[in-house]
Amino acid sequence: MNQSFIPGDSAINRLIQELNKLPGIGPKSAQRLAFYLLRASEEQAKLLAEAILSLKKKVSLCSVCFNVTESDLCSICRSDKRERSQLCIVEQPQDILALEHTGVYHGMYHVLHGAISPTEGVGTDDIRIKELLNRLRDGIVKEVILATNTNLEGEQTALYLSRLISPLGIKVTRLARGLPFGTELEYADDVTLTRAIEGRQEF
Ligand SMILES: [Zn+2]
Repeated sequence: MNQSFIPGDSAINRLIQELNKLPGIGPKSAQRLAFYLLRASEEQAKLLAEAILSLKKKVSLCSVCFNVTESDLCSICRSDKRERSQLCIVEQPQDILALEHTGVYHGMYHVLHGAISPTEGVGTDDIRIKELLNRLRDGIVKEVILATNTNLEGEQTALYLSRLISPLGIKVTRLARGLPFGTELEYADDVTLTRAIEGRQEF
């Protein structure tokens, strides 16, 4: 579609530009969504706008594990039904959703918010490693499960963490079996993830 008939500073163009910044939304999809919203009812557009605003207003990070939450502690950290001796390390909050969906893991989590990537300038101080080490100090955690992605960054991060954590006398395991190299956890299916958790191996 030729966009030149739409003035650059028009409301529709502003929306197209904003939508185009979202992951997985190219210029064509952005146009399709913008014109869809133009035709949609005022009510529908309002609900979408309000949902985005309330997301930014209400959702923050858990002060212990850095999962998303609408209070100080996330529901997992608040729960008294979780196994506190197991700590599963993930890159992103959406990885927790994937693992929880399998229903086989009942321990705690720690979200790094990224992975070490020298090529993208992400160093060890840029993700929540310091906070992780602080959590391990009280001796409650007996096993750390490294559930970073199985791509290069995830593997580098797992290796780095295992070298830090193993000397503390804590068992370090890594999700393994069934997860092919290059897998992002959030896109892995339940069966594969369940096998990966149950078949985790000492790192
Ligand atoms: Zn939490």
